[in-house]
Amino acid sequence: MSEVPGGIRDRTFHLLGKIEVFQARRNAVILAHNYQLGEIQDVADFVGDSLELSRKAAETTADTIVFCGVHFMAETAKILSPEKTVLLPDLQAGCPMADMLTVEQLREFKAQYPGRPVVAYVNTSAAVKAEVDICCTSANAIKVIEALDADEILFVPDKCLADYAQSKTSKKIIPYPGYCPTHLRILPEHILKEKDLHPKALVLAHPECSRGVIQLADEVCSTSGMLRFARENSAQEFIIGTEEGIIHRLSKDNPEKKFYSPTVLAICPNMKLITLEKLAWSLEDNQYPIELPSDIIDKARHAIQRMIEIV
Ligand code: SF4
Repeated sequence: MSEVPGGIRDRTFHLLGKIEVFQARRNAVILAHNYQLGEIQDVADFVGDSLELSRKAAETTADTIVFCGVHFMAETAKILSPEKTVLLPDLQAGCPMADMLTVEQLREFKAQYPGRPVVAYVNTSAAVKAEVDICCTSANAIKVIEALDADEILFVPDKCLADYAQSKTSKKIIPYPGYCPTHLRILPEHILKEKDLHPKALVLAHPECSRGVIQLADEVCSTSGMLRFARENSAQEFIIGTEEGIIHRLSKDNPEKKFYSPTVLAICPNMKLITLEKLAWSLEDNQYPIELPSDIIDKARHAIQRMIEIV
């Protein structure tokens, strides 16, 4: 880092100071997703996956929640804590997968397959959540599907998570054709190349990856599952088949172990939109508050609460 006045260290020092002052002034808690930039993870009060962070949002006594993640995650925090101010430091930080399913598209999909319950991955807008039967995360999708009293289930919006869940259940899953562009940029050949370079490394893959990548994995799990697996497993090296931001936390939690991203393409540009500058400004100017109609909050909360009761 630069020691020169006005250099990187000065910039970071200045921003961290500002964040501390305005965080205290607003009685705010900073939540960061596992895919955020390392500098954001380091300044956050809690780092986790979307469900862990929503639970933190629901529990906190803070008046303001600054959600360093993407739009649907901040919406979920607002659904679970409607009386609190929830801020997203950059409104452009959306999730392309969530954007692949509008309410109109969901209604058309349901009309094609009437009478089946709809399971929605949390990577959906609040308006979509308000029109589904139950939500799920990548960690609990199979449990949620198994708990439903139906043999055929509509699954939105991720076709890859649906495909993975289908391999684990005898129920028929009818997938919506959405996907995560970041996870689909991780190819089987990237994994094979990395295995050649690190033959002792175990491969961990997120279920948003393609079937080809999943078939090469030693373990398929959510980001919270990866953190647990890396901590508990005696292996010293891991190839990480998900967004590369998680490697910051994996390395911090397991300094003696090595973690490799299979490709430089495993970066979600939307997650990386949140920077220290935007976080500081968000706290200073109270931007951007997430607002949702109360009927959407009530209906969406029902789908999330149903999931929480099951798992
Ligand atoms: S990594 Fe994929 S699913 Fe997650 S926010 Fe980015 S685009 Fe959406």
